[in-house]
Amino acid sequence: MTTTSQLDGTALRYQLMERAAKLSDVISLGRGDPDLATPAHIVQAAKDAATRGDLALSSSEGLPELRRAIADKLLRENHLPVGEENILVTTGGQEALFLLIQTLLDPGDEILIPDPRYTSYDQAIEMAGGKTVLVPTTEEDAFDLDADEILRRITPRTKAILIVTPSNPTAGIVTEKNLKRIAAIARERNLIVVADEIYEKFVWDGWTHFSIGSLLGMAERTITLNGFSKTYAMTGWRVGYIAAPIEFIASLARHKQVTNLAAPTLSQWAAHAALTGPQTCVDEFRAIYRERRAFVREQLDEMGWTYGDPRGAFYIFANTRATGRNSTELAFDLLEQARVLLFPGTGFGEGWDDYVRISLLQPQAKLVEAFRRIRDASIHWK
Ligand code: PMP
Repeated sequence: MTTTSQLDGTALRYQLMERAAKLSDVISLGRGDPDLATPAHIVQAAKDAATRGDLALSSSEGLPELRRAIADKLLRENHLPVGEENILVTTGGQEALFLLIQTLLDPGDEILIPDPRYTSYDQAIEMAGGKTVLVPTTEEDAFDLDADEILRRITPRTKAILIVTPSNPTAGIVTEKNLKRIAAIARERNLIVVADEIYEKFVWDGWTHFSIGSLLGMAERTITLNGFSKTYAMTGWRVGYIAAPIEFIASLARHKQVTNLAAPTLSQWAAHAALTGPQTCVDEFRAIYRERRAFVREQLDEMGWTYGDPRGAFYIFANTRATGRNSTELAFDLLEQARVLLFPGTGFGEGWDDYVRISLLQPQAKLVEAFRRIRDASIHWK
């Protein structure tokens, strides 16, 4: 049996959260779960399903109505040429990423992933016996994923390229120019592309979201991951999905049967309402995050913490070099002394100890208080 001995990124983040839970009055700018309430019409749809008694276990692929609604959405908004047979509903995006990696990789297969990264991918890859090959991204380049950096790392063992756009933790997006080049590389080298698009609805300042699976010749080699947690503030409902070629969906369904048979039916009905109901709630969420983002940027600019242009998601990946402190120590000190939880860059990969990830998932008044505390604590740093 193998276990992870060193404190990897995920373990580090959990250690900070456990410490924070033992302290009182902590303002968390750590976790990436929206603080906003799930829209009322979505909650009502779950109540209605319960009242009707529409609670029978669905197939492992998901409720037909939900798979249809997801396929329609992907076709309409993302221009993916998919039908409901290309969709598998999961118990959150987290399960989606685990299942797709287990299904995709054989022992020894290499998968390219951008660094810094959401380290749950590393764990899933390790469990499948695969090998993570990191592709660097930089603050100067707004954490875009450079196709040349990918090309340099391809070997005969490379199976897939993973893209997370917009990105957790960097708030970068992969620009359309790079997506087109990455697609060309995937076609030439016969590689699979995994596209995690869970933050697609949060793209700022005139940038737009683009789905790589919509490009010519990509549908048959793209596995798209998405979910409801971020777009509709539904983290606790646990619904995500994968869009992929039919044969891959069939293998995924076999894995899904072993883990938990199917996503919870009640949550699937809620997700169905989210997709088929009014989308004004997403505009409202965006307006709230936009305001918070402007405030946090202003604070960071005043403090001299730089950051790559945050083009998407609801994070800012800030460079803390101005503090003269290692960001892992900084995060632990801020938690103890200022009662503010930030995740150090090392929670998203080795070598990122000049950065912290700040999530925008607190009401404005809490953000104001958090930055007041950070500034107070900073008096002791130099
Ligand atoms: N992918 C990325 C990049 C994420 O940041 C997350 C959650 N933080 C997930 C997938 C999984 O999200 P969920 O399980 O809430 O759908």
